Amino acid sequence: MAQIALEKVSRVYGDEKALQDIDLTFADDVTTAVVGPSGSGKSTLLQVINGLVRPSHGTVSVFREPIDYGRLPELRLRIGYAVQGTGLFPHLTVEENITLLARLAKWDVEQIKARTEELMRLVNLPVSFAQRYPHELSGGQQQRVGLCRAMVLNPRIFLLDEPFGALDPITRNEIQREFLHLQQMEARTIVLVTHDLREALKLAQRLVVLDRGSLVQHGTCKEILEDPASGFVRSFFQSQLEQ
Ligand code: ADP
Ligand code: MG
Repeated sequence: MAQIALEKVSRVYGDEKALQDIDLTFADDVTTAVVGPSGSGKSTLLQVINGLVRPSHGTVSVFREPIDYGRLPELRLRIGYAVQGTGLFPHLTVEENITLLARLAKWDVEQIKARTEELMRLVNLPVSFAQRYPHELSGGQQQRVGLCRAMVLNPRIFLLDEPFGALDPITRNEIQREFLHLQQMEARTIVLVTHDLREALKLAQRLVVLDRGSLVQHGTCKEILEDPASGFVRSFFQSQLEQ
């Protein structure tokens, strides 16, 4: 069984079907990008994987077991989650933001300090920024802090929701390069939500395509580019790649 598997998962909000009857197994140790138009259910899909949203029907298994909704804090410690706009706490320093989960997991002070420095070096942030507050950093630097925070406990699963959105093209490119580098250093199961197909093709080995809450195609990037499952997929790809 794979680390992340959804079985007949639906999520409704009132009359709205954010996810409809999704059967999906994510391949272990690779990056899968989730693409689709705005409102197609991409963020909801990530949120059902980390338990933030509970399915209306169906079963989500993470680390090869159905999620135990009575024990979500433990699950969250084992999943790295980073969202657009960084989600950093403005009143905490960079170091405090990065080490939030490590402190919850009761690491000792020396271990926390060493891990912070290691991560900051990894994403090319000057270690001297550790005592700054988020507003004292650029948008790109804040996003790097967000990635460090998601990585602090070295989770086997990463869920990234448009983590490089809202960046200027140069910074975006730089962070994408660092992401590829991180991914090469140690294999992890990564689910990357993006509305940017080019980013998906650059960073992911596999794609999941959503349309109005339904799974319309899942496969390697090559398979989907060469053989789109429907007119929707073909025109979605065309419109994105022509831009
Ligand atoms: P995406 O990330 O692809 O843009 P979302 O997963 O955020 O899409 O949303 C899918 C659909 O579910 C949208 O129509 C959205 O309005 C609806 N939705 C998502 N979250 C909520 C919520 N908390 N309450 C009501 N509707 C929601
Ligand atoms: Mg979204």
